[in-house]
Parts: sequence; C-alpha cells; structure tokens
Amino acid sequence: MTESVKNNLQSVRNRIAAAARRVGRSPDEVTLVGISKVQPIEKVQAAVDAGLMQLGENRVQEAAGKIPHIAGDVHWRLVGHLQRNKAKKAVELFEMIESIDSERIAQEVSRRCVNLGKNMDILIEVNVGAEDAKAGVAPSQLTGLARLCASLQGITLKGIMVIPPFDPDPEKSRPYFREARRMFEELRDAKIDGADICHLSMGMSNDFEVAVEEGATIVRVGTAIFGPRV
Ligand SMILES: *Cc1c(COP(=O)(O)O)cnc(C)c1O
Repeated sequence: MTESVKNNLQSVRNRIAAAARRVGRSPDEVTLVGISKVQPIEKVQAAVDAGLMQLGENRVQEAAGKIPHIAGDVHWRLVGHLQRNKAKKAVELFEMIESIDSERIAQEVSRRCVNLGKNMDILIEVNVGAEDAKAGVAPSQLTGLARLCASLQGITLKGIMVIPPFDPDPEKSRPYFREARRMFEELRDAKIDGADICHLSMGMSNDFEVAVEEGATIVRVGTAIFGPRV
C-alpha cells in the first residue's frame, strides 16, 4: 500500500514535469500539494517519507485529528470552504488558506492571525464555472475582495484558486483554466498595494497536466497519489 503511494507520487511528479516542458516551463515553477483528506494515516506518512512536504486538507476538524499523527516537516494548507467559527482553529493549524471566499471570512482570518501574531498566506477561491453549488466568489467580485484582503493585517494575498466544473475529459477544463489564468494575470498586473500575486492554484488528479500547460503554479492532487478515497 505504501509502496504504491511512492510509485504514484513519482509518476505524478514525472507527469507534471513533462507537462511543464511541453509548454516551455520549468517543472520547478509548479508546487505539488498532496490532498490527504479521508486518506489513511499510513498512506499520508508514506508520501511524506517519500518527500512530499506540502499537504492540503479540506476540513478543519479532520485536519486537526490528522496533523498530530504525521511525522515530518510538513506544510499544511486548507483547500476547502472555511466557516467563521472554525477560523481560529484553521489559523492555528495551517500555513496557507487557499479557499478565502468572502469578506467576512477574510476579516475573521485576519483578526485571528493578528491575535496569534501570525502571518497567513491566502488565495481567493474564484467560482470560475459560475456553478450554483460551488464555493468561491463570482469573477466580478474578485477585485473588490482582493483589495480588501490586501488591506488587512495578518494575511498576505498571494493569488487565486479555482475548481472548474467536473468533467471526465480533462480537455473540458482547459477553457476554465485559461480564464483563471487571465484573471490571475489581471490581478497581478493591477499591482494592488499589500498583495503579492504569484500563485495560480488549479488542477486536480483528473486534469493537473492541462492545468500545468495553462500556467498553474500549484496543483492539488489527491487520488492520483493516494488512491481512491474510501
Ligand atoms: C479533494 C480536493 C482535491 C483533490 O482531488 P483529487 O481529484 O482527488 O485529486 C483538490 N482540491 C480540492 C479543493 C479538493 O477538495
């Protein structure tokens, strides 16, 4: 079981590198984040032991139970929707929050960070497919929320995160990734005071190669590394 995690991890790394080279990018420009939600501790530990030091979780409670059991210098981030009443715990557990999706949650995370004397890197999650059931701000709200985040103490806005509508054909994600990249570059070129726009988080197990071709700097990969979530 742990052997397959090691092999999967190597294969994902190779595929990221190949996708980057296809479009003239350096593989070093892409950070692989393993999404360990629901996965057994032994598999997560196997990935860490094989050198995967960036891990992501989508729920605060689950992460709080898991993080103490994983040995190693792991950098944990939150990739799922954050509720206000879990902001304090999230600020204690994570080094980055990729899923800021409202002014209220940005303000609460900021307040908690200031209280703890901590600085948190954040991304704004954008609902790039304008799906009703998905988290993330509407594209039209991105600039406003970005300006607010940049003005708040204790947090540093680093970019955006998107999850396109799921389709088994990864090519169907490409137009959404292109649109996300356009939004990312527009935000970066706006040169908002207090922000440091350098990350575009997109691509999961099914479509991370397309995401890398379209400019992702962070890919979030779960099942392709750890196997199906059971
Ligand atoms: C679960 C999850 C992933 C990883 O999904 P896989 O398809 O297993 O790679 C990535 N990002 C977010 C926000 C997730 O919730």
